[in-house]
Amino acid sequence: MHSTVALEHADDRETLLRSGFHLLLFEAEARFEQPCHAFHEKCTIYDERPMLCRSYRCALLRQVDSGEVSDADARALVATAIGLRDRVRPAIEALVGSTKTHSLAVLMCRMDDALAAMAPPERARTHAQLELEAAELLTLIADRFEPRSASTSSQ
Ligand code: SF4
Repeated sequence: MHSTVALEHADDRETLLRSGFHLLLFEAEARFEQPCHAFHEKCTIYDERPMLCRSYRCALLRQVDSGEVSDADARALVATAIGLRDRVRPAIEALVGSTKTHSLAVLMCRMDDALAAMAPPERARTHAQLELEAAELLTLIADRFEPRSASTSSQ
């Protein structure tokens, strides 16, 4: 969902650097890229994870907390999103020739650029299904998962 995550003042940058984090500096702000290198099925630096990782709660989780959405319905939505992601992501990587692990947000931007460079008939013939599923995934993320936080970035 996000291409970078901001560090906060309370974060121990030295520890994160020793853990292999590559920090991007934007004026006074430091960020690290997503997908996070510390994620291998789970967070591998859980006790030292950045502050924002500790406080991050997506919109769906907040709805579960408030009782607005049941745990079963939330799990079903997550499964739907993962299914869509697992169809869309490899198709975009093949389209843009990506050999590096990028966030979905970055891949979507590259997909838009690649599709815009195609002639409309070719685009419709070869990538209509991908465009439909990518739009469905983006809508699902925006409607159900986006936490509306200023500290994460999708660009
Ligand atoms: S919780 Fe762990 S794996 Fe996830 S973004 Fe933070 S540091 Fe990386």
